[in-house]
Amino acid sequence: MSALVTLENVTYQYENAKRYALQDVNVAITANEWVSVIGRNGSGKSTFGRLLNGIVVPTHGTVKVSEFSTHNENEIWDIRKIVGMVFQNPDHQFVATTVRDDLAFGLENLGLAREVMEGRITKYASLIGITPLLEAEPHRLSGGQKQRVAIAGVMAMEPQVIVFDESTSMLDPIGRKEVIDTMQMLHQRGVTIISITHDMDEAVLGSRILLFNEGKIVVDGHPEEVFSQKDVVTELGVSLPFSVELQKLLEKHGISLSETCLTQEELIGELWTLYSAK
Ligand code: ADP
Ligand code: MG
Repeated sequence: MSALVTLENVTYQYENAKRYALQDVNVAITANEWVSVIGRNGSGKSTFGRLLNGIVVPTHGTVKVSEFSTHNENEIWDIRKIVGMVFQNPDHQFVATTVRDDLAFGLENLGLAREVMEGRITKYASLIGITPLLEAEPHRLSGGQKQRVAIAGVMAMEPQVIVFDESTSMLDPIGRKEVIDTMQMLHQRGVTIISITHDMDEAVLGSRILLFNEGKIVVDGHPEEVFSQKDVVTELGVSLPFSVELQKLLEKHGISLSETCLTQEELIGELWTLYSAK
């Protein structure tokens, strides 16, 4: 399949910075992939996200979304219709006094007819499960509810790609689960998910991991492949998923499993196999 998002030799340097935030990044992402982006603080993850919808434009190289380039100012709106962003802090994403007005505000830039706008608000509020919150004041919502409103706002623009930049990191476990369930539902509906995260149990939900270090993609592979290199990953400042960490402890005690287990269910399955073979 042809790529939906392509970065070719992308280097980015912030105006006042001495170092490159990203250096010679090449990557192609196809429609409906779920790509997790991991790496220690300052490794370039958010810059990568910002490049995808033209919030920042490469110092060298090109970012293409579908047939559009972020270098081309008159294509930026076409790109922002395709690539939506959900950020870390749910409180910084609201401008209006009710949820409904906030969703409408986001859509105004698209130049849609009033009925079309209202139709989309109704549809996505229902899909994300926030219909009862439409008349509420955004600041009164819980963290998880706020993030779901932010996601509904992005969804109402009907993007093909959504970049989540640490969108669950400020939420409690309930809010986090709400947002992850929503991400999975969107993925099933065909949306391409790009999930920047510090939570490795979240990172393994995707089918591909990009591990950033000092502005470069140093590992690009399937989660199982990435986390089987336990020492490499740990050296690059990334933690391990809980079940891989547990597996490492088991190995220290002489219990070796044949597969890298990314989830607790897989680990339990492998342990049963080992136990039954005894
Ligand atoms: P991450 O999201 O992985 O923590 P960032 O993309 O935010 O990494 O940062 C990559 C590099 O760019 C870091 O060295 C950081 O200090 C620098 N940086 C990020 N934002 C800015 C900015 N607005 N101005 C200058 N430097 C920045
Ligand atoms: Mg960041």
